Amino acid sequence: MSLVMPEPDAATLARREEIVAALRAIVPGEGVIADAESLRPYESDGLTAYRQPPMVVVLPQTTAQVSAILAWCHANEVKVVPRGSGTSLSGGALPLADGVLLGLSRFNRVLEIDYADRVAVVQPGVTNLAVTRAVEDAGFYYAPDPSSQIACSIGGNVAENSGGVHCLKYGLTTNNVLGCEIVLMDGEVLRIGGRQLDPAGLDLLGVVVGSEGLLGVVTEVTVRILPKPETARALLIGFSSVDGAGQCVADTIAAGIIPAGMEMMDKPAIHAAEAFVKVGYPLDVEALLIVEFDGPSAECDHLIGAVENIARRNGAVSVRASRDEEERIAFWAGRKAAFPAVSRLAPDYYCMDGTIPRRRLPEVLQRMSALAAHHELGVANVFHAGDGNLHPLILYDANLPGQIERAEEFGNDILRLCVEVGGVLTGEHGVGVEKRDLMPVMFTETDLKQQLLLKCAFDPKSLLNPGKVFPQLHRCAELGRMHVHHGQVPHPELPRF
Ligand SMILES: Cc1cc2nc3c(=O)[nH]c(=O)nc-3n(C[C@H](O)[C@H](O)[C@H](O)COP(=O)(O)OP(=O)(O)OC[C@H]3O[C@@H](n4cnc5c(N)ncnc54)[C@H](O)[C@@H]3O)c2cc1C
Repeated sequence: MSLVMPEPDAATLARREEIVAALRAIVPGEGVIADAESLRPYESDGLTAYRQPPMVVVLPQTTAQVSAILAWCHANEVKVVPRGSGTSLSGGALPLADGVLLGLSRFNRVLEIDYADRVAVVQPGVTNLAVTRAVEDAGFYYAPDPSSQIACSIGGNVAENSGGVHCLKYGLTTNNVLGCEIVLMDGEVLRIGGRQLDPAGLDLLGVVVGSEGLLGVVTEVTVRILPKPETARALLIGFSSVDGAGQCVADTIAAGIIPAGMEMMDKPAIHAAEAFVKVGYPLDVEALLIVEFDGPSAECDHLIGAVENIARRNGAVSVRASRDEEERIAFWAGRKAAFPAVSRLAPDYYCMDGTIPRRRLPEVLQRMSALAAHHELGVANVFHAGDGNLHPLILYDANLPGQIERAEEFGNDILRLCVEVGGVLTGEHGVGVEKRDLMPVMFTETDLKQQLLLKCAFDPKSLLNPGKVFPQLHRCAELGRMHVHHGQVPHPELPRF
């Protein structure tokens, strides 16, 4: 485990009792958790290799409480880490030993559903799937569908700009959130966006979505809801080469066809999934595509024919179109179970997340195999092929000395490769702690400085989720050049990390 978090501040730790008492005054009853045993469940998120119990957990229920907590912490220089359901795979919700963990799980109500405007207003602790559940009887749904949708919260989705299988056609969280209420670190409550696609003013919503809990705490979210498509059908296509599958993806998009979902699995992932769910995936192929279409059935039929032709031109060796809903669900069952299926191949796996231009897919997969050999670790690939978002699953055994470090180094090499071929460090899981130190691979110093200046406009004291996303911890006062004259450091009162 190579990533280092800032040293806890001894002076803050010494004030722990005072901090707990102040939080109890704001959130009475069981809303403050301070005993060591009860803090344990909060010590990590989905990036379980990193663990750190927080100094204290606070579970507010109202925006006024969130505002009061943040204002107190701001005035008293106490760090705060927001947390939704704790499923982040990049360590975004990893607590700090000298920080307050602010959990949003009690913000769990759907506040309003407006079918005429096609919006739902929800609290941030509502799970992604619960939004769909709240509107499905009326024939609507919420489109972004992370695999973790049964557990992850809408607030977390906003913070991570989460995606899923259907985001190829319907967009990521950022394309489906219209407005939100956010509380800044000094306690100020701000409403941004609204109920329509293009509200007046600067696009602050675009800044907040994907800001990984660094700019403010989201306390209410307005999302678009969509009418459920009339029908959905899927194609299951096997290829004898990864190149053929990659080219089929590129040619489909180039032909102007945007499927509802377009997922690829490589040979190790296909075999693991088939052994796990036994849905009849072909085992004699190198790559498998699942392509889904939704909408009017005549349109689905037409597009299925068009993509089948493209697939055959690219050397597809098996093509099956789902005939009914049961078969469509069976096609997806293996893909949806791919992660638990792969977990049977090794004691541990490490799920990476990077994005590449679609046309570079075959080359990237080849080079990834070479990297696997170099690091002497296995890898299985499942990915959102349509938007070039890779999820290599690196296989390792945490009980063997050095393996976790090798898995991390392999992961870093994959992400460097993504950037080298013109892609980006993350597709949907965020930077968090995991990719923090790789940010300079992607961004110049000027880029990073501009992003930090934005962070400082929202949180000048850098108290909100520090140690995440930015590779070096700067205080806002130091941004820009720091001149040290005869050993006189500017702002000597500020702690340096
Ligand atoms: C099995 C599994 C499958 C997954 N599949 C997908 C997938 O398909 N697509 C995908 O995009 N992700 C996926 N994820 C990752 C994860 O579920 C998402 O990043 C999700 O959006 C995190 O939501 P959460 O409520 O768990 O947030 P947390 O993990 O609690 O927090 C994530 C980040 O958001 C911040 N945050 C949380 N709530 C708020 C708030 N109210 N205000 C401000 N900041 C906040 C935190 O500080 C942290 O930085 C998967 C995770 C798992 C474990």
